[in-house]
Amino acid sequence: MNITIHGGAREIGGSCIGVQTDDCKVALDYGTKFEESSSNQFPEDFDAVIISHAHLDHSGQLLSLSKKKPIIVGSKITREVTIALLHDMVKVQSQNYANYPYYGYDADAIKEHWWVRDYVALPGMTIKLHPAGHVAGARMTSIHSEDKEVLYTGDFCVHDSEILEGCKTQKLPNEPDVLITESTYGGKVRSPRNELVDEFFRQILAAMERKGNVLIPTFAFHRSQEMAKRIDDAIKNGVLPRYNVYTISNLANKITDYFNENKECFTKKIQRQKQPFNYSHVKHLYRTGQIKEPAVVICTSGFGHAGASLRLLADWAEDENNSVLLTSGYLPPDSPLKFAKEERRFRNNGDEISVNAEIEQIELSGHADQLELVQMVEKLKPKRTILVHGDIEQAQALSEKIEEMTEVWIPEKGETIAI
Ligand SMILES: [Zn+2]
Repeated sequence: MNITIHGGAREIGGSCIGVQTDDCKVALDYGTKFEESSSNQFPEDFDAVIISHAHLDHSGQLLSLSKKKPIIVGSKITREVTIALLHDMVKVQSQNYANYPYYGYDADAIKEHWWVRDYVALPGMTIKLHPAGHVAGARMTSIHSEDKEVLYTGDFCVHDSEILEGCKTQKLPNEPDVLITESTYGGKVRSPRNELVDEFFRQILAAMERKGNVLIPTFAFHRSQEMAKRIDDAIKNGVLPRYNVYTISNLANKITDYFNENKECFTKKIQRQKQPFNYSHVKHLYRTGQIKEPAVVICTSGFGHAGASLRLLADWAEDENNSVLLTSGYLPPDSPLKFAKEERRFRNNGDEISVNAEIEQIELSGHADQLELVQMVEKLKPKRTILVHGDIEQAQALSEKIEEMTEVWIPEKGETIAI
């Protein structure tokens, strides 16, 4: 068996791992890079492509397979959300690039050969999917072939969040020959989640007391709904006072409808509610012009590259009463939010904007931190562990913690490991 890291080696973005035996060849994820300028060329001769979850850095390259039509495997919500995100990507990219080669029907073609399964048998190979936490519908993948067991984590999260249960590591295959794991937070131990949530509310409350605006840039899928639910419940429970709270993202709004229709993906508490994602104190708007200030606004894009989050960052950054709350730990190098936070200024449409607003990063992340990653290795006892989906510093920090328990590889892009 050969394992080739086609993308997501020593970096976050463009995840794709090939597993090849004498009888078949599968891909684990097929993602795009975050930077728009770079694109991936992956092999296209896979018999099956397993998609761990609907984030585009794991699924966004699927359009290039619309004519090859390999079997695509993933959960139902991963399929629905991936197709919605691919349609959105086609819309945005064809506005930006005259020669963009894909159309909406390419996204629909992907849907036609997508199998919603937790178990698939291919020649000489069985594939099982296991809940991974992280986002709704996320799965880990275990592959059994040639007497070898390979477990790929995709992105995963061990602890529960307000709306989603964490991954149950005790239900994963023990002592796999190879564990391929993300290492986003390989070098980082986070504060307990309840402390982070308290800090998050404290920051919002402080801005509310200043009558300021709060910008919360988030991803349309999952984080937006989790955030809206968190704030809605906090207002219901008196943790936060009533205030104008909005979401602005038509894509997020569409995904919220999927969430209401697929409650079985979420915690028991969510399942008991009739329409859990119809909020009482959070209103969906179509445009930033509809905002009544002061307000808390949850909007896309998550990294502030475009959309309402860039517009509001530009409008609100100069006022010291306003706040920007970042809840993702990772920010791409070209992200306006990264410049705003680190340089206290950023460029927008050729203007330089200085930042007086508070910018706080509270990592309410859906990824395992170093402690959880090490615990998983202790529990599963893999013979070899391949670290992907993490900057080299994070992967090396994790490697130091686990190298006495397992043989560790931090492969480069394109590297093949024979098992
Ligand atoms: Zn993800």
